[in-house]
Amino acid sequence: MAKEYDLVILGGGTGGYVAAIRAAQLGLKTAVVEKGKLGGTCLHAGCIPSKALLRSAEVYAQTKESETFGVLASDVKLDFVKVQERKRKIVEQLHKGVQGLMKKGKIDVYEGTGRILGPSIFSPMPGTISVEMNNGDENEMLVPKNVIIATGSRPRTLPGLDIDGELVITSDEALQLEALPKSIIIVGGGVIGIEWASMLNDFGVEVTVLEYADRILPTEDRDVSKEVEKVLKQRGIQIVTGAKVLPETLEKGKDVTIKAEHKGEQKAFTAEKMLVSVGRQANVEGIGLENTDIIVEKGFIQTNEFYQTKESHIYAIGDVIGGLQLAHVASHEGIVAVEHIAGQAPSPIDYTMISKCVYSRPEVASVGLTEDEAKEKGFNVKVGKFPFKAIGKALVFGEAEGFVKIVADKNTNDLLGVHMVGPHVTDMISEAGLARVLDATPWEVAHTIHPHPTLSEAMAEAALAVDGKAIHF
Ligand SMILES: Cc1cc2nc3c(=O)[nH]c(=O)nc-3n(C[C@H](O)[C@H](O)[C@H](O)COP(=O)(O)OP(=O)(O)OC[C@H]3O[C@@H](n4cnc5c(N)ncnc54)[C@H](O)[C@@H]3O)c2cc1C
Repeated sequence: MAKEYDLVILGGGTGGYVAAIRAAQLGLKTAVVEKGKLGGTCLHAGCIPSKALLRSAEVYAQTKESETFGVLASDVKLDFVKVQERKRKIVEQLHKGVQGLMKKGKIDVYEGTGRILGPSIFSPMPGTISVEMNNGDENEMLVPKNVIIATGSRPRTLPGLDIDGELVITSDEALQLEALPKSIIIVGGGVIGIEWASMLNDFGVEVTVLEYADRILPTEDRDVSKEVEKVLKQRGIQIVTGAKVLPETLEKGKDVTIKAEHKGEQKAFTAEKMLVSVGRQANVEGIGLENTDIIVEKGFIQTNEFYQTKESHIYAIGDVIGGLQLAHVASHEGIVAVEHIAGQAPSPIDYTMISKCVYSRPEVASVGLTEDEAKEKGFNVKVGKFPFKAIGKALVFGEAEGFVKIVADKNTNDLLGVHMVGPHVTDMISEAGLARVLDATPWEVAHTIHPHPTLSEAMAEAALAVDGKAIHF
C-alpha cells in the first residue's frame, strides 16, 4: 500500500538526515530512504573515520618525538588493528546517535534503494518513490508532496585507471586497510590526497604525491599551498607537481608502477599501493531522473538557489549538486531546502562565507577569497600575514609552522578572505567566518581582545598586520 508523506528524502547522509531533522522540527511528515547506513559518506567513509585515523597518526608521530618535550618514551609501537578498532567505535557511536535522532524526530527510515517514478496511479506528477527494500520485502511505495534528492557522491578515477581495491585503491578502500603498506603513490594532491599523505607519512609509510596542477591544494591561497608543500617535503613526503599521470603505463605485480609526464619527460614511480584521489562524482544514476524533467549538467543535478530542480517539488542538495562537496555545506543546503518547502523565507547560502578545512599536519583552513581571486575580481588588495613562530602558544605546543593571512580591500577595509596554515586552525577558522558574516573589518577583529597565550592571537595579529601594525613580528 502506498504511504503518504509531506517529504521523502532520498539518501540519509549528512545532507539527507539533517534535512529530515529540520523537516520534523517544522512539523512535516518525513521519511528518509537509505540504501547503506544513516550518516552516509561523511560518517562511514569520509570525515569521521579519516579524522579518527589522522588523530592516531598524529599521536604516533608526536609520541616518537616526545623527547623534545622532555618526555622519554622508548619502544614506541603502532598497533594498526587497534587504530582501526578505535575508528570503528567512534563511527558506531555516532551512527547510533543519528539513528536515535531519527526516532526522536519520528522520522520514518526505509532501508533500501529508492527510485523516483514518473506520473503514476499514485500521483499525476513525477516524485512517487519506489523503495527496493534491503531485506527483500516487497517494494514500498512512498507518495510525497515533496522530494529531496541527497544521494551524495562516490570516488572518481582517471579514464583508464581501474580501481581494483587491492593495489589501486580509493579512500573507500584505504579506510578499511587492515595493514599499512610500506609505500604508496597518491594520485591527486587535493584535500583528500593531502590528508592521506600527511596521515600515512605520520604512520611511517613512504609517500609520493603526484599532482597535475602546478601546486598541491590548488584551490587554496598560493602561499598556503607553498607552506604545506614545504612542511610535508621536510617530513619526507615526495611531492611532484605538474605531473600528468599516464594511466596506460600502469603495471601491476607485487608492487604497482606508473609513469607520469613531468617537465617534458616520462618518469616512473613504484610503490606497494596506489591511492587515487582525483575528486568525487555525483550519484545520479539509477534514481529515476529519466522519469522527470530534472537537468543534469557535467554530472551534477542543476538547481536554483533554494535547491529546487526543474521539477519544483523535487529538490537536490549536497554532493549530488556539486560545488563545495563538504558535509557542512550539504547539511545547510538541506536546511534551506526544507525551510523553502515549509513556506518559510530562508536566505540563499553565500558560498564565499563557507569555511573549508584540510586536516593534514599542519592543518589548513580558509574562508572567502584568496589573494589571487581578490585581485582577479578587481579589488585593491592589502594583505596581513602573521607567522605562528611568533605566537607563544604555538611554541608551547611544539607546532610553530604556518601563518594566518588576511586579504582585505584597501578601499573599503572589507575582510575579503582569511587563510590559515598551522596548529588547530580548523578550530580557529570559525572566528574568521563569523567576522565575514558580521561584515567585520580587520580593525574590529584586531580590537577584539584575544586571550593570551592562545593560538587565536595569530588572527588578531594578522588583522593588525593588514595595516602594518602587528605587535609581535
Ligand atoms: C575521505 C573523505 C574525507 C572527507 N572529509 C570531510 C571533512 O573532513 N569535512 C567535510 O566537510 N567533508 C568531508 N568529506 C566530504 C563529505 O563526506 C561529503 O561532502 C558529505 O558526505 C556529503 O553529504 P551528502 O549527504 O550530500 O552525501 P553522502 O554523505 O554521500 O550521502 C548520500 C547517501 O545517499 C545514499 N544513497 C545513494 N543513492 C541512494 C538511493 N538510490 N536510495 C537510497 N539511498 C541512496 C548513500 O548510501 C549515502 O548514504 C570527505 C569525503 C571523503 C571521501
